[in-house]
Amino acid sequence: MSQQMQGQPMIILGEDAQRMKDESAQDHNIAAARAVADAVRSTLGPKGMDKMLVNSLGDIVVTNDGVTILDEMDIDNPTAEMVVEVAQTQEDEAGDGTTTAVAITGDLLKNSEELLERDIHPTAIISGFDMAATQAREEIDDIAIDIEKDDREILRRVAETAMTGKGAEQHKDALGALVVDAAQAVTVEANDGSTIVDLAYLKIETQTGQSAGDSELLEGAVIDKDPVHEDMPTSFEEADTLLVDEPLELDETEADTQVSVSDPDRIQEFVQQEEQELREMVDQIADLGADVVFCQKGIDDMVQHYLAKEGILAVRRVKRSDVEFLRDVVGAKLVSDLDTAEPSDLGQARVTRDEGEELFYVEGTGEDSHGVTLLLRGSTEHVVDELERGVNDALDVVGAAISSGEVLPGGGAPEIEVARRLREFADGVEGREQLAVEAFADALEVVPRVLAENAGIDPIDALVDLRSAHSEGEVRAGLDVETGDVGDTFEAGVIETPNAKQQGIAAASESATLVLKIDDVISAGDLSTEGDDEGGAPGAGGMGGMGGMGGAM
Ligand code: ADP
Ligand code: MG
Repeated sequence: MSQQMQGQPMIILGEDAQRMKDESAQDHNIAAARAVADAVRSTLGPKGMDKMLVNSLGDIVVTNDGVTILDEMDIDNPTAEMVVEVAQTQEDEAGDGTTTAVAITGDLLKNSEELLERDIHPTAIISGFDMAATQAREEIDDIAIDIEKDDREILRRVAETAMTGKGAEQHKDALGALVVDAAQAVTVEANDGSTIVDLAYLKIETQTGQSAGDSELLEGAVIDKDPVHEDMPTSFEEADTLLVDEPLELDETEADTQVSVSDPDRIQEFVQQEEQELREMVDQIADLGADVVFCQKGIDDMVQHYLAKEGILAVRRVKRSDVEFLRDVVGAKLVSDLDTAEPSDLGQARVTRDEGEELFYVEGTGEDSHGVTLLLRGSTEHVVDELERGVNDALDVVGAAISSGEVLPGGGAPEIEVARRLREFADGVEGREQLAVEAFADALEVVPRVLAENAGIDPIDALVDLRSAHSEGEVRAGLDVETGDVGDTFEAGVIETPNAKQQGIAAASESATLVLKIDDVISAGDLSTEGDDEGGAPGAGGMGGMGGMGGAM
């Protein structure tokens, strides 16, 4: 071969490219990932603090929700983004437990760092983590508690535990009960005997002005819109209801056509023709037998006028998600073309107007009617938004508890128990993987440790008490963050679900291994300063977006 290739390395990277290999790549990545975990840890649990996030437009979000914080943070470090994905996966798969999953990821990586320093190869760590994650899943199945699927008291506690720290405290009894009502309203028994909670038939609406305790569950849909014309009727006991997603207007091209005619008669003719077409739309709607029309697009003034004359209620620019929900509620087909619409496309509903709140209540009256609305109220926009996040988490876990018929004690009890069992399991693991399994066990204990820290309880004392309770067979012993005592958290009503816990551990393990597998970071830009204006501290490098939020964290 040529001379060049023997002596000199072949250069394949551009001039500005930066490269980090092996240890320095791992250190860099682990530091970045841990920085993300540290940023959300302080929100964990009922005593966790909130974060205020301010975006570049000055919009403010105040939240305690792990995934929301990470979504709003402007993170531009690739490894840190992998940790953000843990939260997103957890949100999609389980709906709750996002902060927990991210905190465990952070500690898995922290403990890996120590193993790497002891010259344990990443491959051994990864393989030990895989074993531990699989084992942890089985142990959670083993400690899960069977419940009756309609045990309202337990389900309410599951809801309350998930909402904790998200602005629901003062009204947690009422909201917990409401979440259970809502989940039960959309629960169906499938033919094979399984129970399905179909949250697609549940819609959450928010209203500011009243207190969270005034929230309510309503049959059907709530449409936050006004009638298009003041002379329209606004209430019907039984309305044939038409849903349209085409504009009830003339095509823009037609309306915009320039008429350059000199003959005034021609202009008159043109105007009459347009009027005729609009009039026809109204006739079509009336002929279908519609009493009420919900239109996703706009409605021409002329059409509004004639619909009012026909005694038909029309609402325009209804959100797509609302139109789709209305379809289930009233049992209608969505009409995209009036020319081919049939009377059977219409659904049936009781429509009532709340003048004070300027909303319509639409309650299906036909046989095909599905759907309920959880109307959440709160004093201000920020309050009600955070409440919605809490209620969303709660609905997901209550749904999971209803369909699986299983729950877990909370307050760190499962983490301590699984850690204890993993340490026993590690005894039977050969080689260096054993150390990785033990490191995994230690990482799970981040949950009770941080729950204690955030509540101002000494984390070391708490861990000692918890471990000793579990070694004496108290599988359900967790931390009561109010008192600092260790006890049966299931009895105390701090209740979680196995599904979310298993998902969280799996996601954390996968993401940590993904970070560990990287031995080489090749970047087209500068690695150490990636948008980081403060520079300096290792680990802060590349967390560009976080620098600007220093004051808020
Ligand atoms: P995540 O995003 O992980 O769901 P949260 O802030 O919702 O984070 O906190 C969840 C943790 O808080 C769980 O470990 C749960 O058991 C614990 N927790 C909730 N309520 C209590 C309570 N009253 N006492 C102790 N721990 C609690
Ligand atoms: Mg939670």
